[in-house]
Amino acid sequence: MAQCAGLKAKGGRCTTPPLRGEEWCYGHHPAYADTRRRNAARSHKTRSASPEIARIKDKLATLADEVMEGVADRGDAAVAAQVFNVYLRAVTVESKLKEQLELEGRIEELAAALERQQQKGGGGYSFTG
Ligand SMILES: [Zn+2]
Repeated sequence: MAQCAGLKAKGGRCTTPPLRGEEWCYGHHPAYADTRRRNAARSHKTRSASPEIARIKDKLATLADEVMEGVADRGDAAVAAQVFNVYLRAVTVESKLKEQLELEGRIEELAAALERQQQKGGGGYSFTG
């Protein structure tokens, strides 16, 4: 069984099987170093969106890596990606709904505060000629 020529961060040889016909796995192949860096930078930038969405994106990225490395079965990965996709949509709808409810709550609060102010001030907003 072939082994990746890369080294693990903790020391010792990398145990991931290398890419077909290559010396390194996807995680160690010098040709993919730029792509890996770009992916890392991108996921770092969009981290704040939602922890739930970030978690799914991490899993999808891992899944993609595993397919590239030949660890994950392509069929299984495709099904998993579909499930993640549906889940992601559900999370997005939920977060939008939450946002809307929050907004409605704030508008109600604002309206109530305005009403209180009008009652207290005795027509502070009305014109007195
Ligand atoms: Zn490796």
